[in-house]
Amino acid sequence: MDLGRIRTLEALPEEEAAGRIQAERDRFGKNLCVLAHLYQRKKITELADFVGDSYGLSKSAASFDGGKYIVFCGVRFMAESAAILARPEQVVLHPDPEAGCPMADMASLDEVRRSWNSLSRLSGTTVPVTYMNSTADIKAFCGERGGTICTSSNASKTFEWAFQQGKRIFFLPDEHLGRNTALKYGIDPEEIVVWDPEKTDGGEPESYEEAKVILWRGYCPVHQKFTVRDVEHVRRFYPKAQIIVHPEVPAEIVQIADAVGSTDYIRKYVAKTKPGDQIFIGTEINLVQNLASQYPDRLIQKLHRSLCLTMYQITMGRLLYTLENLETLERVVVPEEVRHFSRVALDRMLSLTAV
Ligand code: SF4
Repeated sequence: MDLGRIRTLEALPEEEAAGRIQAERDRFGKNLCVLAHLYQRKKITELADFVGDSYGLSKSAASFDGGKYIVFCGVRFMAESAAILARPEQVVLHPDPEAGCPMADMASLDEVRRSWNSLSRLSGTTVPVTYMNSTADIKAFCGERGGTICTSSNASKTFEWAFQQGKRIFFLPDEHLGRNTALKYGIDPEEIVVWDPEKTDGGEPESYEEAKVILWRGYCPVHQKFTVRDVEHVRRFYPKAQIIVHPEVPAEIVQIADAVGSTDYIRKYVAKTKPGDQIFIGTEINLVQNLASQYPDRLIQKLHRSLCLTMYQITMGRLLYTLENLETLERVVVPEEVRHFSRVALDRMLSLTAV
């Protein structure tokens, strides 16, 4: 990538950059499919063919009529997911290959393999389950070992399936989504334990044998920021407000919020509110701002300002640069074996539920 050229394009006034992006889109027509995650800045979502959550976007691109070039405005694991689901003739490009998800990167394949080997000493079957927000390597790891993938919408159904397969779940990489799902599923908090890859034998070796759910110690820095104090503050000054949070927030926030759900659930929840309603949302700030501008007749506010810095690395200038160099830029490539076992895990998820 020519960083000097990218800086020049990033300095363009937004409207000029938007005009040039649209001109590139017109040039490629149906051959191009631009995807934007809901946490992208508003202008990028306005220029995309599809806006949504990572899995929904990958499915849309794979079924798009055309779409030889798929440009994924999101973080790296999302572009990998699109490459896993893409048709053979489609190629996937990512405007910033350095923009990874800090949470996905908290579970490296080497660390997970080492941990899995230690856990193999436990009695009974342990079923690995990874959140969609994980690298392709980790998805494949789970697929190869009889496990599956879950999204924040279908995590409960995935738990039900996993407990039919084995004695306990090894959940990667988000501790909070894992705990929130386990509690909702009715697991005793005593039977939910954490595996910390930085500690000897995970840190709690005496608890793993009896545990029902072993949570990888990973977290989303964006959602971990929300606190009980944020909720108390809103309750005090906006007693009629509804508070909705994403399940990647810590369990103590979920317990006192009015509703909890995935990015898509939050979007649908807000769509059902009425003019004049007050809604405070505990998730990434760009989604909150985009919803606020979509529904100006209600008060839609952040629970706390929390920006995903790596999502924000995708700029209008980078998108324009990618479109201007579609034929020559490096593609997102997932090695065949990784792709195969990731598909195994994904297909298991799809057989459980329509998502
Ligand atoms: S919001 Fe959290 S989970 Fe999503 S990409 Fe950013 S760091 Fe990763």
